[in-house]
Amino acid sequence: MKNIVIFGAPGSGKGTQSDLLVKKYGFKHISTGDVLRAEIQNGTELGKTAKGFIDQGQLIPDELMIDILASVYDSLCPCEGVIFDGFPRTVPQAEALDKMLSERGTAVSGMLELDVPEEMLMERLIARGKSSGRADDNAETIAKRLTVYHNQTAPLIAWYEAAGKRHSVKGYGALEEINAALCEVIDQF
Ligand code: ATP
Ligand code: MG
Repeated sequence: MKNIVIFGAPGSGKGTQSDLLVKKYGFKHISTGDVLRAEIQNGTELGKTAKGFIDQGQLIPDELMIDILASVYDSLCPCEGVIFDGFPRTVPQAEALDKMLSERGTAVSGMLELDVPEEMLMERLIARGKSSGRADDNAETIAKRLTVYHNQTAPLIAWYEAAGKRHSVKGYGALEEINAALCEVIDQF
């Protein structure tokens, strides 16, 4: 089974590319952002907790996120493959993911990094905010999310590099081109 981590800054296109990969390979898609937004929509306790963090551009605490991830994973798998979108976002989350998968007799196949220049991220997210209706797609919160990304999430690039699992792909240009570059890597797993 393939366990693929799609990685990148906010606005790097993880969701868009995940959708294309799901169509092509039939993998399951776990987007932690989507999971949390659904909880908010449904007015659950978890949703109320999550909203406080998301609206501030902060991450949900690791212990909570790790429990959520495991329960979503177990509801979908065993299966042919999974795309992890938005998880891990911290080193403890990456360690927890390795542990969770090894307990289930599998492992991360590789991390696909969407590399997008900083100026483009802000531009894309501001544009998305006009139609997404997402409370966190406004200039002030986006700036916070980018800072959080640099401080807490970007260290995972070196972490996966050290594990020999990092594959960086150009994350701008035509969608199909980006998708083709990702597929080329996935086909080697
Ligand atoms: P993209 O635009 O590439 O899809 P994003 O950063 O805009 O990425 P989501 O992945 O949808 O957005 O996440 C939205 C918010 O949900 C994050 O800012 C964070 O508050 C919370 N969140 C999502 N995944 C995690 C996680 N793994 N750990 C902690 N918080 C998370
Ligand atoms: Mg997303």
